[in-house]
Amino acid sequence: MRLSELFTKTSKTVPADEEARNAQLLIQAGYIHKEMAGVYAYLPLGLTVLENIKQIVREEMNAIGGQELAMSTLQPRDIWEKTDRWDDAKVDNWFKTKLKSGTELGVGLTHEEPVVDALAPYVNSYKDLPVLVYQIQNKFRNELRAKSGLLRGREFVMKDMYSFARSQQEHAEIYEKIAGAYHKVYARLGIGDITYRTVADGGYFTDKFSDEFQTVSDIGEDVIYLDKAKKLAVNKEVYNDDTLAKLGLKREDLVETRAVEVGNIFPLESKYTDALNVYITNENGKEKSIIMGCYGIGISRLMGVLAEHFADDKGLAWPASVAPAEVYIARVGVSAEVVKFADELYKSLTESHIGVLYDDRDVRAGEKFADADLMGIPLRIVISDKTVTNGQVELKARTSNETELLTREELVSRLAS
Ligand code: ATP
Ligand code: MG
Repeated sequence: MRLSELFTKTSKTVPADEEARNAQLLIQAGYIHKEMAGVYAYLPLGLTVLENIKQIVREEMNAIGGQELAMSTLQPRDIWEKTDRWDDAKVDNWFKTKLKSGTELGVGLTHEEPVVDALAPYVNSYKDLPVLVYQIQNKFRNELRAKSGLLRGREFVMKDMYSFARSQQEHAEIYEKIAGAYHKVYARLGIGDITYRTVADGGYFTDKFSDEFQTVSDIGEDVIYLDKAKKLAVNKEVYNDDTLAKLGLKREDLVETRAVEVGNIFPLESKYTDALNVYITNENGKEKSIIMGCYGIGISRLMGVLAEHFADDKGLAWPASVAPAEVYIARVGVSAEVVKFADELYKSLTESHIGVLYDDRDVRAGEKFADADLMGIPLRIVISDKTVTNGQVELKARTSNETELLTREELVSRLAS
C-alpha cells in the first residue's frame, strides 16, 4: 500500500473523548473510527490487524477439528424461552428489536441456543458426535460502561465455539484440547508469557469451575491471584481456601494482579441441549443427554490488549504476527535515483508477499519517521540520496534504536528469515 493513496491520516492530537490508551493510539494512527461509546469502525489498517488476529484464531481452531459456521444476528425468541434466558431479568445486557408485526427478536449477544437449534437435525445418534463448531462475528451487548476502548465494546468481535460430547470424559478431553489451542493463539499473538489460565466460577448449573484466559494488565477489570511457577491463576471471585485446596495452590505463592479476560472456556453440562430437547441414542438405543461446552475469545478485545501492551511514548509497536505490514519504506528525497530505487524495492517486496507500507508522500523525513513509529510497523527502511549512492538501505526495528545499512540482497534475505 502506498501511503499517498491511503485515505486515513495520522493525528498528533490525543482524542479528548477517549480515556483508554488503546483507543487513543488506534484513533491517532488511523486504525479505527469511533462511532459512539463502545462502537468502532475498522479502517483499512485496523481491519488488517483485526483480520490477522482472526486468521490466527481460525487456524488454531481448525487445527483441533473446529468447523466454522456463521450464525445469524437476528434471533427468534422462542428458543431462548425454552432455556429460560429471554427474560431481561436473566440476561440484562441484551439488545432486542421488533418485527413490524410486533414480534420480538434478539440481537445476537451469544449463540448457545441458536447453535443447538441448528445442529438438532443432524445430531441423533452417538455416531453423530463429538462435534466442535465455531464462528467469528460481531456480537452486541448493552454494556453499562464502555470506557476502555476496544476492551469493552457494545458491538465487538468474538470467536465463539461450542462442543457437543457423548460423555463427561469425552467433554473433558475436548475441553483440554481447546485450552491447549488457546495457549497457542496467545503465544502467536506475543502475549503467551503474560496470559494465564485462570480458574473462575462455573455458573449456577455446574459444580465445576470454568477457566478464563487472563492477560496481566494495569487496565484490566479483573483481579486475579497468580502462581507464576505453576502458570496458573485464580479469579478473585473464587479465591478462597476451599478453591486453593482443590487446586493445590498456596496463598503465599500467589501474587495479586489486575488482568483482562481475553478468552474463556465453560462447561455447560446438558442444560441447553436438554432444554431444547436434543438428545442422542446410545449403542443400546437408549436416549442420552449431550454434554456441551462453550469457548469464547475476544477478538477485538485482543486487538485493544495488543495496542495497549505493545506501545511506547512514540506509538504502537505491533508484533509481526498481526502488524498491518511487515515493513515501512520511508522514501526520503525526490531525486530520480531515490524514487527509482524505492519504487523497485516496493514492487519486489510486494511480489515476494511481504507486506509493505510505502511512504511515497512528499513530506518531511521527520514526519515519515514519526508516522512509522506511531503506526507501529515492525521494521522501517529508509531510502535516501545517501543510501542509494552505495546501493543500500537503512534498516531499523520499531523497538530498537540501532540502524543498519544493508544492500538490497542482504535485506531480502534478512526479511525471508
Ligand atoms: P466479561 O467478563 O469481560 O464481561 P464475559 O464473561 O461476559 O466477558 P463471554 O460472554 O464469555 O464473556 O465472551 C467471550 C469473550 O468475549 C470474553 O472472554 C471476552 O474476551 C470477550 N468479550 C466479552 N464481552 C466483551 C465486550 N463487551 N467487548 C469486547 N470483548 C468482549
Ligand atoms: Mg467474564
